[in-house]
Order: sequence, then structure tokens, then C-alpha cells
Amino acid sequence: MGNSALIFELLHKDEKTKARRGRITTPHGVIETPVFMPVGTQATVKAMKPEDVDRTGAQIILGNTYHLYLRPGSDIIREAGGLHKFMNWDKPILTDSGGYQVFSLGHMRKITEEGVKFQSYIDGSRHMLTPEKSIEIQTDLGSDIMMAFDECAPPDADYAYIERSQAMTTRWLERCINAHKNTEKQALFGIMQGGFFKDLREKSAEAIVDFDLPGYAIGGISVGETKEEYIGVLEYAPDLLPENKPRYVMGIGTPDYIFEAVEHGVDMFDCVEPTRIARHGMAMTSHGRLSIKNARFARDFGPLDPECDCYTCRNYSRAYLRHLFREGETLSHMLLSEHNLRFLSHMCEDIRTSIEEDRFADFKAEFYSKYYEGKI
Ligand SMILES: [Zn+2]
Repeated sequence: MGNSALIFELLHKDEKTKARRGRITTPHGVIETPVFMPVGTQATVKAMKPEDVDRTGAQIILGNTYHLYLRPGSDIIREAGGLHKFMNWDKPILTDSGGYQVFSLGHMRKITEEGVKFQSYIDGSRHMLTPEKSIEIQTDLGSDIMMAFDECAPPDADYAYIERSQAMTTRWLERCINAHKNTEKQALFGIMQGGFFKDLREKSAEAIVDFDLPGYAIGGISVGETKEEYIGVLEYAPDLLPENKPRYVMGIGTPDYIFEAVEHGVDMFDCVEPTRIARHGMAMTSHGRLSIKNARFARDFGPLDPECDCYTCRNYSRAYLRHLFREGETLSHMLLSEHNLRFLSHMCEDIRTSIEEDRFADFKAEFYSKYYEGKI
């Protein structure tokens, strides 16, 4: 694979929108894009065996640096032979930098130019995450794609704060690149910041694109802003990144946010949403979300989604799933999680076909008319 752990091919561009069909080749296999990536925070996609995740059509999963660093410790995962071996998943893995969790879960955090000091949410122990430390942990984990350590500024931060933060994130990126030695097997992605200020986004993009990294993420969106603000950034941010590199938006997992990202030229996205809502008895179906708790499913012996080809829909009824959920049975988490992951994977398969056939916008309208206006 030459001197890069990752190859991206831009296969086709939709004629009427900015949607792109691409292919990423990593040391652990090929990823067809646009792609949804399930999240396996604690070296497991919650309530699912790796072979169950695999049969949903998942091509790559995420691991969380922050959680795995605190427990069991990245040294243990390194000794196990890396995260792929430790968790028995032989397809590609992407790890985040730990930054997002430090900012959202870390108590008593203190940000300096060196990095971020924080206390563990588990036992109050003190730690310091720096760009070098984040790369060291991700090297131990052995992910195919690792993310640069960035500051996740609060969504309501003002211009002056975002300007300082964006500049520091660029300096941290340079430190990540210098600390990154395993370039043959692990690709490092940079992250664009700049909040909701177009000129700061341009500044950030210009600085990070200069490093000629194998891929880039658009950070600082899907952090609690309105959908209009989210789309507002998507209107210009992807265009600031190179066309021949994959583009990633972190933390999006609802169909509308995914469709908007794809329409504006984004290739990769991840979220805990499908598996988290599954554990709360919620399913995504082709005719919208449903709550399996609903009494009207008590005698409904049909599948969760008649249009779904997943293991759950092929073998179990809404009535049975409702019963399992009401009894607090683990199997309900397993079956609903598998369905939701298959739903998004299937949706992305259809998105990819629609781009190849230059009818992405039509497919989006068709999907929305059922998902957002349909009746379950
Ligand atoms: Zn299903």
C-alpha cells in the first residue's frame, strides 16, 4: 500500500448534488462509501457479537480512545495484539482521539497548550491527554484510522474563543503528525474546526489541508446546534477539503442528518444512536421510528419492518419483541440493536446505488416521504 495505510478512490459523483460514491482501502479491508460506522465504545458494539455486527453489513466500527485508555488500559490491549484481536473483529476500526470525551465527561478538566488535564469519571484519578499521548494510545489500539487530538470547543463559544481554539487545534495536529510513527498500518485524519464562523473554517481547512493527510473530518458540528446551523456549515465546509480524500462528520446517526451530510459531499459518519435507542425499545423502520413498548403491538405478529432483511425481521414478531422488552430481557437489546444497525447499513447501500445512478435527490425524497411522513 505504498507509504500510506489508506487509499481513497472517488468512483462517481452524483450529477445533481454533491453526493459522492467512493471506496477506502485499509489494511483490514475495503470500505464502500458513503458509510455509516457503528460505535463500539468499550471494545464492543453494545449487546452484539462481532459476527452479528458483521451480518448487518457493517464495514468498519469505532472504538473510543478515552474509555479504553481508562479501562482496561491501552497497554493491555497492546499486549493482546491490538483492538482487532482483543475484541475479535477483523474488519477496519477507527478510533477517536479521546478529545470529545475528555471535554464532555472529564471532571475538573484544565486546557493548556500542552494538553488537557482531567479526572477520571470512574475513580477520580488524575490524567493528562496530549496530542502525543492520544497518538500513543491509538497506536497501542492499532486502529486502521486514527483521529487527531483536537479541542472540542463549547457550541456556544464566541468568535475569539473559537479563533484561539482553532489555532491551537492546528498546532496540536502538527504534534500528532510528529508523534505518529506507524504510518504504514495506521492512517491519521485531521479535523477541521472553526465553529459556525465561515472565515475560521476556511482558516482551519487551509492549515490542515497543507499537511496532506489521508482524510479529514469536519468537527464541531452535531454538537447541539439547530438543524439549520448544521446544514449551514455543510453548505460550504466539505468544499474546503480536498476532493480526493475521504470526509468524515462525527456523531451523526439519524437518517435526515446522514442524508444532508451525503448530499453535501460527506463520505463517513458514526453515532451511538441506533444501538442506544434500541436499548430503549426504539426501532428505525422504513416508515419511521416506532416504540416497541406500544400496546398496539401486543398482538402484532408481523416483523418490525416488512421491508427489512435483517435477522430480527426474518425471525421475530413485533409482539415477541414487545414482550421481551417489557420483561427487560437482554435478547430484546440484541435483536433491536441488530435491526437498527442493519437499517442504517441498508439505507447506505441504497444511497450508494442511487449515487451511482445519478438519482440521489430522488431517492432522498422517496425515503423522506416514507420515513418522515409515513404511518407505521
Ligand atoms: Zn430488521
